[in-house]
Amino acid sequence: MYQSGKLTARNSGETPHIESLPDAIQSAAMSASPTPRDADIGWYVHLPFCRTKCGYCDFYSLPTISTLIPDLVAAIRHELTTRNPDRGVRTIFVGGGTPTELPEENLDDLLGAIGRMAGDRVVEWTVEANPSSASELKLDVLRKHGVNRVSFGAQSFFPDELQVLERIHDPAHIAESVLAARRAGIDNVNIDLIYGIPGQSMARWRESMQRAIDLGTDHLSCYALMYEPGTAMTKFREQGRVTPCDESLEADMFEATIDVLAAAGYEQYEISNFAKPGRRCEANLVYWRNQEYLGVGPSAVSFLNGIRRKNIADVRKYIARVVENADDIVVESESLDSTHRAGETAIQLLRLIDGIDRQQFIQTTGFDAVALFAVAIEEMRAASLIEVTEEAIRLTRRGLLLSNYVMRAFLACVDEDDRAASADRRFVTLNVDRNDQTGP
Ligand code: SF4
Repeated sequence: MYQSGKLTARNSGETPHIESLPDAIQSAAMSASPTPRDADIGWYVHLPFCRTKCGYCDFYSLPTISTLIPDLVAAIRHELTTRNPDRGVRTIFVGGGTPTELPEENLDDLLGAIGRMAGDRVVEWTVEANPSSASELKLDVLRKHGVNRVSFGAQSFFPDELQVLERIHDPAHIAESVLAARRAGIDNVNIDLIYGIPGQSMARWRESMQRAIDLGTDHLSCYALMYEPGTAMTKFREQGRVTPCDESLEADMFEATIDVLAAAGYEQYEISNFAKPGRRCEANLVYWRNQEYLGVGPSAVSFLNGIRRKNIADVRKYIARVVENADDIVVESESLDSTHRAGETAIQLLRLIDGIDRQQFIQTTGFDAVALFAVAIEEMRAASLIEVTEEAIRLTRRGLLLSNYVMRAFLACVDEDDRAASADRRFVTLNVDRNDQTGP
């Protein structure tokens, strides 16, 4: 998910790039209404432990170190207490890692503290779970503290595909976990699935989707397998031990996903996310709308008061430093100028099927999107990758397949570096980073 997104040191200060923009755009930016400082926010809590490391995973996660769990829970509680910005909390997402790897008593301790501090305005509280570690006892603990949504990292319903991904669960665990969650009183369930697995056929992909649909799943996140730098999967590919899925098959799988899930009553509301009516993931919508959130735990990212910061991705150092001074755990921090922030907001919003609401964009960023991204819009429209109406700018179906290409073009309108990179755009293929990698 978004929390694993790489941060780069960028321009600090208020509006260093504004002077290079046309007058009309400059004055609009000057009248921008920033995110209200009293608006409700999201909370993200990162628990990095997993039973084993999956071959494709580039999240900050590591095999469980049991002796560190009590100290980690205490450190996260401390960070929450000291960094709580005293703003209403609308969504909570506890991810990782595998939160359900924690023993019941530690889970109870942590979720109890989160619930007390978050208050009573929370509309959605999600916990990620691995189908092999979501015992009835743990699901009861989740429910007791107010968790009302659980997200299972199912990935596939075929043992050999799970083996390729180095997952530890068995397909039977998926149905058992979903049923157990419902028995515990958590009726809003997400399932993560991966397509483009080496050796996977279209028929197999359709079968995995159908099995998830048959479970009555409320929400499905369907991501293409990514070969992230430094992962075991990438090494295996380099060594010729796995053969990546053919790009055109992968694109066909993506298109089949849209059609199969639409026919089953799921609304595609983001490139890779599909929901039954009323079941969109509110926590992820906070990221896609570029709204503010507090992230705690090792490697977690926060975006508060216009500043994005990232915590250290080292559980031992995190525990050792957080009690001394919560600022010592920050490894990266950036304050985007208004132009870059508008660019970032635009590419996040483009992920959503509703796209960029033009009026809303002016209100939140101060920029007229059609003017700011005029060059990209002309080019992408000519290629039938976006459509522009009086109300919105959104990806076409073809644009969904090439979203990374579109986003780069938009970023090039506000960033010199991206402008240079855009010269290479014609060489971008279907093997685009059209999603975030999926978690537990
Ligand atoms: S994919 Fe999920 S379960 Fe696997 S190592 Fe990464 S965080 Fe842990």
